[in-house]
Amino acid sequence: MDYLWSLKDLYSSFDGEDFKKDMSALNGILKEYINWVDNTVESSRDIRAALEQFIGIKTRLSELASRLYNFSELSYTVDTKNEKATKNMEILEVKLSSVAEANAKINKWIGSAADIDNAIQASDILKEHEFYLKEIIEKSSHLLDGKQEAIIARMKNTGSSAWLKLKDLLTSTLKVDIELDGEKKQLPLSIIRNMAYESSRELRKKAYEAELASYEKIDDSLSACLNGIKGEVITVAELRGFGSPLEETLFNSRMEAQTLEAMLTAMRESLPAFRKYLRTKGQLLGSKKGLPFFDLFAPMGDLNKKYTYEEAVKIVDENYRTFSSSLADFAKKAIESNWIDVYPREGKIGGAFCQDLHIIGQSRVMLNFGGTFSDIITMVHELGHAYHDECIKNESMLNSDYPMPLAETASTFCETIVKKAAIKAASKEEAFAILEMELSDVTQVIVDIYSRFLFESELFKRRKDGSLSTGELNEIMLWAQKEAYGDGLDPEYMHKYMWACKPHYYTADTNFYNFPYAFGQLFAKGLYAEYEKRGKAFVKDYEALLRVTGKNKIEDVTKMMNIDVRGIDFWRNSLKTIEQDIEKFLELSAEKL
Ligand SMILES: [Zn+2]
Repeated sequence: MDYLWSLKDLYSSFDGEDFKKDMSALNGILKEYINWVDNTVESSRDIRAALEQFIGIKTRLSELASRLYNFSELSYTVDTKNEKATKNMEILEVKLSSVAEANAKINKWIGSAADIDNAIQASDILKEHEFYLKEIIEKSSHLLDGKQEAIIARMKNTGSSAWLKLKDLLTSTLKVDIELDGEKKQLPLSIIRNMAYESSRELRKKAYEAELASYEKIDDSLSACLNGIKGEVITVAELRGFGSPLEETLFNSRMEAQTLEAMLTAMRESLPAFRKYLRTKGQLLGSKKGLPFFDLFAPMGDLNKKYTYEEAVKIVDENYRTFSSSLADFAKKAIESNWIDVYPREGKIGGAFCQDLHIIGQSRVMLNFGGTFSDIITMVHELGHAYHDECIKNESMLNSDYPMPLAETASTFCETIVKKAAIKAASKEEAFAILEMELSDVTQVIVDIYSRFLFESELFKRRKDGSLSTGELNEIMLWAQKEAYGDGLDPEYMHKYMWACKPHYYTADTNFYNFPYAFGQLFAKGLYAEYEKRGKAFVKDYEALLRVTGKNKIEDVTKMMNIDVRGIDFWRNSLKTIEQDIEKFLELSAEKL
């Protein structure tokens, strides 16, 4: 076992013959694809043959492109100063955007071709990709002509992509000034952010204050990044004929507006219960005016314990095994095959993520493991993503891309397994601590996510009329937090810089990457209730559901489990399971106050 991930299964190195060979092979495929599109659009009469060729060449192209790009990007995320990684990412972005015109042409051609249904029914390979093809037809109505699409794609490289790189560079190299044990130190932001989980209240508060102060060094630059990115998103959404970036996001998420509205309404109804929890946690920690932001993640009771990574690995294995041996065996394989980059270090980006490497049937997980129970849960979460990818491994490359809201299903489901199992096995005091941690996490996913949704909606609304100043961004963030947390948060200690902290606002291709977390959390809660009813028989159906997430609309995926996400009842019931946990927490807290 190693603590750094290995990318050797992708390439030996940027200078290796294998990498160089594939870079030049990519040039060949790109040229072949562009020529093929021109010929087909001009002269093809056999729609079935053309579509079959399309699936073939598109598969080869996306396999090679993702292999090259993921190698570059993964190398970069753990070493943002790696010049070869940065350079190759840029080269690849330019190369890949060179097919934008061809993509637009062929997609428009498919969108307007007659007799597609007959062609699909007459061919196995087309039947396998029916959803993929139908989605192209649906999307073609929002496509501009080839030249315009080419210009947008190329301008993005020097627009939103460049802004994002600057943002990553600013935050990953930011030095936070903090005094620890009388000694003045400069620490990376990711380490300071991890201190929110420390058991010492003084340390948490100090880290929070140091974090906020540090953003002042880069806030105007970050707001320039954010304004640049969101401005581009608005322009492109308008050009494509979407009513708003949210409409575009829902379209790309394969999700109906009615589903989002039903979920948000149920979430709003549940806010008073969350606020009760927050105020009570505040009281337990000695605050009378609600919970200060720096106490949101404060561990309660017996969870002050620190874990080594090896202990975390053991906990993951034992708890996954209560669900299924296939899940546990998979995690073991991921850990032992060096798929995980474990500890924070300078130059490595903050947070955690999982990257699917469909082409080699593997994933990579980046952590910033700090040894708290919460870090174990993050590990469980990211390995859940990896398991989702494992279930989808045998689908074709073009059927492996699932939408944002379903992306958080497996990760959240795994969290629920581990937390429930951990509560069962724990003493009364430990159980209280885990229950509280679960509530603290869920509060993020429901209440904080709601504030992020409000923030991003308001940001888009105002950005239409021009750039926002740092002061305005801070003001909107405070407003959004007030709306969501209400009197649950201490108004003196909120976090006006969450827009600078959360990376999701800065990705031009995935806007509103907030409500998918709530969707994933509440959908997973609903699924877990099913699992509790049906036991082991549920496991196979669950894996089957994960497997088809890349080739169905959300409402159709959830229907497989007889769940109607358009109606408010499903969401209310999922939230009720959380409200029951809050009730339990309030009871146990009453004994302590
Ligand atoms: Zn996730």
